[in-house]
Amino acid sequence: MDPQVRTFVGTLEGALNAEDIITHLTGCIGCGICGNACAWFLGTNNPQLHPMTRSNLLRSFYFAYIDPNPIGKVLTTLGLKRKPGIAELQEMRDAIFLCCTMCGRCSLACPQGVSNRRIAQLARMALSSCGMVPDTVAEIQRNYQETGHSFGLTSEAVIGRITAIAKGRDISVPIDQPGADYLFACSGIQTYHSPKDVVDSVELLTAGGVSFTLSSGLVDTGTEVLTTAVDPVLGRKAVRNTLEEASRLGCKRVIIGECGCDVRAHLVDLRSFIGADYPDIEIIYVDALLLDLIETGRLLVEPIDMAVAIHDPCWTTRLSGYGPVIRDLLGKCVTEVVEMEPNGLSSYCCNGGAGTLRTYPPTSPGMSRRRQVSVLKAEQMRATGAKMVATPCASCALSLADTSDFYALDLQVSLLCDLVLNSARLASRTRVLEEPPSGKGW
Ligand code: SF4
Ligand code: SF4
Repeated sequence: MDPQVRTFVGTLEGALNAEDIITHLTGCIGCGICGNACAWFLGTNNPQLHPMTRSNLLRSFYFAYIDPNPIGKVLTTLGLKRKPGIAELQEMRDAIFLCCTMCGRCSLACPQGVSNRRIAQLARMALSSCGMVPDTVAEIQRNYQETGHSFGLTSEAVIGRITAIAKGRDISVPIDQPGADYLFACSGIQTYHSPKDVVDSVELLTAGGVSFTLSSGLVDTGTEVLTTAVDPVLGRKAVRNTLEEASRLGCKRVIIGECGCDVRAHLVDLRSFIGADYPDIEIIYVDALLLDLIETGRLLVEPIDMAVAIHDPCWTTRLSGYGPVIRDLLGKCVTEVVEMEPNGLSSYCCNGGAGTLRTYPPTSPGMSRRRQVSVLKAEQMRATGAKMVATPCASCALSLADTSDFYALDLQVSLLCDLVLNSARLASRTRVLEEPPSGKGW
């Protein structure tokens, strides 16, 4: 057997659990319904991008090399069925890494409970282990290994970006402060693409009286090695680093920022990355914390008079269950929350997650596959009639803004924390006008 195929099969076999085998690998009846849920299939009408077709690539390896039922092995040995090899690994690499955001929408549609998303996750993990990854994913792995940041930024560069923005606002950013209650952990996507939004959260946490710190030893939670590369070795290293930095600084809790993949990786999947060896550290989602601060009167906000549509990041709502939290938070900060149709669990993906923004960047001209499959999202956003869409995910915000530009929607995209900050500033200004100065600003 080719060594790359052997590594792939070995990793796959080691990662499978009973549910994977009974439901996801052997439960598909070939009805094709999942195709109606997938933007990448609907937007291209390409049968190669049907969720079932992609999943069947992984199944072909399972039946030929792993399945205890000998029928698959007999058929391939007799030459009655092709034995999958390097060509199929290459085909799987392109189908799974470049044309699937692991959004999980197809899983909701399946009458058999088959999760093509889980199959994509297993495929990515096994492909990563044997080095069969696209250049963009190899770059993530290399950068993270060399610098601890998936975009290759050093700790000094990240801290410099954040503190420069904070200085412009005349606020300070707590860094490496021992004994703080919370460690605020940001993803590489946030610190690379939207350091301003990190500072927005810093400003809000400070205003809410939260004892927190950032860490110079943690400038990327490793989201992309965890959820894009699904690299088991680097993923474990990333999660350990977050928990160890919290321990080093004496923080009992970790705040995860507005990054959908980070939410799923840390609030749902963490244990699967590091097993039972789980230190006594609580993980909390920043928007859940901000909502709590507002509801308990520790952070004052005043609704901004505008109608804002909400986009559910798939990994935050469908895959982690925070749909009600982000709606409640937005509802505190603007006068009208506009729903897209469909929304919540059934919402359409932004099509920019799990590495696809790197493959089809907003800077590239003309029609890309990501833009092509985003036509459904564009129609959905246009139909709201809103002039602004809010979303609590740095990656979604980039993809939606690009979709808005490309389809000429005349629509602004904002991160949710940006609106929370503006509504807090509005409340602060109103308070200043209504009350005599107390000598203490927020
Ligand atoms: S997880 Fe999302 S992108 Fe991937 S096949 Fe399913 S619906 Fe399509
Ligand atoms: S909907 Fe489920 S059973 Fe039908 S083809 Fe898709 S994965 Fe298979």
